[in-house]
Amino acid sequence: MLYTSTRNHEVKISAAEAITRGISEDGGLFVPVSIPAIDRAFLESLQNKDYIERAVSVLRLFLEDFSEDELRRYAQGAYGGGKFSGSVPAPVVSADEHLNILELWHGPTCAFKDMALQILPYLLTGSAKKINNHNKIIILVATSGDTGKAALEGFRDVEGTGILVFYPVDGVSPMQKLQMTTQKGDNVGVCAIRGNFDDAQSGVKAIFTDPAIKEKLLKNGYVFSSANSINWGRLVPQIVYYFSAYADMVSQKKVAMGDPINIVVPTGNFGNILAAYYAKRMGLPVNKLICASNANNVLTEFIETGFYDRNRKFYTTISPSMDILISSNLERLLFMLSDGDDSVIRSLYASLAENGTFRVSDAVAAKVKELFAAGYCDDQATKETIARLFREEGYLCDTHTAVAVHVYESYLQKTGDQTPAVIASTASPYKFSASVLDALTDGSIRSEDEFSMVHELEEKTKVPAPEQLRSLRGQTPRFTDVCDKTDMSEKVYQMLGLA
Ligand SMILES: *Cc1c(COP(=O)(O)O)cnc(C)c1O
Repeated sequence: MLYTSTRNHEVKISAAEAITRGISEDGGLFVPVSIPAIDRAFLESLQNKDYIERAVSVLRLFLEDFSEDELRRYAQGAYGGGKFSGSVPAPVVSADEHLNILELWHGPTCAFKDMALQILPYLLTGSAKKINNHNKIIILVATSGDTGKAALEGFRDVEGTGILVFYPVDGVSPMQKLQMTTQKGDNVGVCAIRGNFDDAQSGVKAIFTDPAIKEKLLKNGYVFSSANSINWGRLVPQIVYYFSAYADMVSQKKVAMGDPINIVVPTGNFGNILAAYYAKRMGLPVNKLICASNANNVLTEFIETGFYDRNRKFYTTISPSMDILISSNLERLLFMLSDGDDSVIRSLYASLAENGTFRVSDAVAAKVKELFAAGYCDDQATKETIARLFREEGYLCDTHTAVAVHVYESYLQKTGDQTPAVIASTASPYKFSASVLDALTDGSIRSEDEFSMVHELEEKTKVPAPEQLRSLRGQTPRFTDVCDKTDMSEKVYQMLGLA
């Protein structure tokens, strides 16, 4: 199977090349030229497989230049060997009769990013070998919290790679900061910058595209690559868990084999929900994809009207991983719904760059509305949802998941749609202890620091905190550097020993 660019349909490359390159030179994203189709026998065959074998079954359909043995080795390395706590990496649990929750946060860093970032290093190093790239791959990450830590864990001590993460010095939670600054491994580097997330992001982009830096690195045997969700290698592993969830729901008798489900996803960059759309396109029985946003509701408006408008107030919310106004992966959806017409995408994204807006054709808008439902909620409703779900069902969820639960419940009220649904749960509640505790105590938190809050939340709910987070207490940070945003490239040279 070949891959093309959303902005230039003449590009035709292998999966290995798409994964190594990350993004197309024309600024477009790589997408498969056609979508593999599955049948009922395929769905039935997943029933008796564990997560690793389910992953092999789905990944091989998209990654034809990898052998089944290779993919099995990768999936075993990523999802086996005790990396994920509990017996299954992505269990479906019932919070109540209607709420089936797909918990995607049992990995090493307690957020759903692990589902892809645990296997990406295998896919990336495997891809580089296939296309005869013998340079060492340097992963450069700007993070507002979750991606940085998940990428560090994924790439630590992976031969042939190095990883450098920049985060805004005051822009991440204390837990997220400690997760990153205590990172172990011989090929990792972490540095805070004086500035916000956008500064970190722009700094990294500038380094990526600076020809002088690229040449200096190449001379020393290094090339840059990216670990965020524009990389196809991060998206394709996310398709797996929707198939896995369906198989589990059939086993749990939540849905009859072959009958449709709805999928609800708390959305930021549109990566996670796009993976669900791919699953549907392949033939997974899915009725509606329900896109849940926080106060940054640019996607809600787009799905309802076909008009994308990033010229709006940016809100800092208690679900920070969804505080995004440019949802990069929407481009892949629009390309598919425009039947692969790259000229349509070029003009939409020229308009976005120029005016901060675009409007899709009536035909595309109609398809979007047919496939998706959308909704959003503010911080107050998010907190009420956390409190109510815990009070009534004893289920403790994080702020991002709560947004999805709230949006789904409004959808149910509005439509009466009785299709069984699964809600993607994207983080452990303990990653956002302060907000979750705030929701449960109505604002009267007793604790002062992060770890006392973890403890207070455990006392209050009797839900044990993940060992990965609890064990951070008392650890001494290894990476304490802070640099100015103008010194980021110098920092990269230093960390690579090229200064
Ligand atoms: C990244 C993230 C999201 C948003 O996922 P997208 O793929 O960007 O839509 C939601 N919740 C959490 C906890 C995240 O870390």
